[in-house]
Formats: sequence, C-alpha cells, structure tokens
Amino acid sequence: MRSIVVLALATSLALTGCGRQQTVGRTLPTVTAPGQTQVRLAYHGSVELGRAVEAGLDLFGVDADKGLAFGQVDQGGLAALQRAGLHPELVAPDSRMGIRNTFDKGYRTYEQVTTQLHAWADQHPDRMSVKSAGKAWENEREIWTTRITGPGDASKRPAVSFTANLHARELVTVEVAMNLIQTLVEGYDKDPAIKKMLDTRVVYVAPMMNPDGHHQAEKGGDWRKNTHKFAGGTGVDLNRNFPFQWGLVGTSNSASSDIYRGPSAASEPETQAVRDYLSSIPNLKIGMDYHSFSNLVMWPWGWTDNPPPDAPMLSAIGKKLAGFNHYKPEQASELYATSGTIRDFVYGQLHVPYFTTEMGGQNDGFDPPYARAQQIWEENKPGALWLISIADDPSQVTRRTGIDR
Ligand SMILES: [Zn+2]
Repeated sequence: MRSIVVLALATSLALTGCGRQQTVGRTLPTVTAPGQTQVRLAYHGSVELGRAVEAGLDLFGVDADKGLAFGQVDQGGLAALQRAGLHPELVAPDSRMGIRNTFDKGYRTYEQVTTQLHAWADQHPDRMSVKSAGKAWENEREIWTTRITGPGDASKRPAVSFTANLHARELVTVEVAMNLIQTLVEGYDKDPAIKKMLDTRVVYVAPMMNPDGHHQAEKGGDWRKNTHKFAGGTGVDLNRNFPFQWGLVGTSNSASSDIYRGPSAASEPETQAVRDYLSSIPNLKIGMDYHSFSNLVMWPWGWTDNPPPDAPMLSAIGKKLAGFNHYKPEQASELYATSGTIRDFVYGQLHVPYFTTEMGGQNDGFDPPYARAQQIWEENKPGALWLISIADDPSQVTRRTGIDR
C-alpha cells in the first residue's frame, strides 16, 4: 500500500511538477506543507549531508547508523539536490514529521507553559524563580527562564543550563524541559539525592526559547524558525543566528530557507535575549540544548571538523550521556557542519562546555503522541541529572574514566 502511494506520488511529481496533495489527499488524512515534498536521502558522510541541506533540504532528522536523512524540499530544492548529484527518494507524507503538528493532547501551549512555570514558582518560592529573558519578535510572548536551587546563599554554587525549543516544531523538547523543572522543584521534598543536588547547584532552564514559532506549531504549522517577516520570506533559524562563527557554513543567506542565518549575527530578539541570559548566569559550568530528532548526543564544534580544545573532556561527557539514553555520541560536525549555533556560541564565546541532544528517532519525528514524549523524557532524565551532578568540575569525568586520554 505504502509503495503504491510512493509510486503515485513520484508519478504525479514527474508529470505535473507540482504538489502531491491532490494525489494522496484521499488516502492519507494529513495536510501537507504547501509546495513541499517529503524525501528520504541516503547520504555518505557529513559533507554530502551538508551539501543537501545547503541545496535546500529542510532536514528533519537522520538515522545516523543507516546513513538516511529525512526531510522535505520544494521544487527548486528538489532540482538543486539532483544537480548536486544527490538522489532523494520521494516518500509518502508522514504526519509525524514536517507536515503539520497534530499537537497531541498533553503538549503544552505557550500560555500553559507560562501558567505552569508561575504556579510552580508560587508554590515553591524558596527554590524556584521565573524571569523573562525578553520578548520574541512579535513583541508579545516572553522567553521564560527559570532558576532552581535550594534555599540559602547560592552565589558560590556551580550552575547548569538547559535550553529547549530553539526550533519551534520540536515539541518534545519543551516537555522534556518542563519535566526536568518539575522533577527538581517537586523532588526537593521527596528525594534526598535531588535535595542534595539543589543545595549544592543552581539549575537554569529555558523551556521555550522560540515562543512565536511554537505558537505556529500549536496551530498545526510545520515551523522551525522564528516569525520575523522579511521581503523574501519569514523567519530566521535561531540556531544559525548566534554570534560565534556566524554565517560560515551549513546556513543560508536567503530568508526563504529553513536555515536562514538572519541579516547579521544575533539580529533576532530571541537570540539577543538568550545570549544575554546565558552570558549573565554566574558560575555557569556546563549545559545542554535540547532538539529533536535523531537520537544523537553532540558536542562542539559544529562549525569545523577540527577537534575542540577540550576534546577529551567533551567526548568523555558526551559518551557518558549517550550511555544513559543509548543515543549515538559524536562531535556535532560529524552530522554536518553548522555555524552560529547556541552550542558553539556557549563553548566558543563563554568557554563553557555545551551539548546538543537530538531526542527521539525517525519513528517519533517532531510530533510523537504525548505518551512517547513522556518516554523520551524518561530516557533523557538520568543524563540530565548526571550533568547537574558533575557541574562542580566537569573535567572530573576524564580523570575518573580515563576515556580518550
Ligand atoms: Zn532543532
């Protein structure tokens, strides 16, 4: 059945050169993104995948072990991929990826996140506070940040940062961040290990860094970027807009691209707010930026294949994290080269180890049923708590394990 749909789709595109919606609309109850075609691409290495992305593949995620990439392209992108010698396979639209968000019951809206964060802080003012880092582009929604630590003088405590949802449609990341906050704030009274952790650490969590984009996803939109309107398109890829090696590689100068870097480094209010927020965290020792999907744990650099100065420590921490969630650990550039990312900014500019986790596999996509989002939290919880535990001195990992020495 599926292969018939794929064949019909390919035929439709070959004959008409335009949308598949009329071909498959009767058989698949999904709404397709206008003008976009879903593809699967067998790729060979990071250079080839980078070429595909720069040619216009809106990359959803990969199966790194099989060398398969999943994404969508418009007609121009499809032609550009073929010109680049790449041969994407057209596949039937998959509602879990990039067509529209079903926004399964359970996923929190911006309003629900706002209410919940303030409710927790009101219930536990001794250990949690909520602050806005600034407003997103539409000048309406706040970028909420939370600070969680035990009572008393926290000024000397090492700090850990968790950030999520730079990419709007990656819905699971918000829920993982919210679950982390709840686990810490409510666990303080119940779990001696969490109490000890919070009495000796400060945990900062920003669960929704792209609230305008998330608002589009809540309405069912397949949306990655912020919502800044330009003459040539809408939205900047916030994870290409950070002011470190901005514009170098794995990004586009076209506003219509899903990897549009923006007109200048840190041009976007979201980027500026998050940059200033992260730069102002006292004693920041380590952190994690959550994305979905691909089942990967990645460390700097993304902008170059060269190893980072702290490669032994970063890879030891990344491998340990991957031991918890059984994802694939790698330097970020091994996927494909990217620049202007939050991870490379924090490491390169603030000199703090920062990681990326791409949570979930291609069966999850951006929008798995909410029950699966809870499982994804459970598989990432041990790593998150461990990261907090080593914040006093992240280099202890290398000393203890001897990995990569
Ligand atoms: Zn992402």
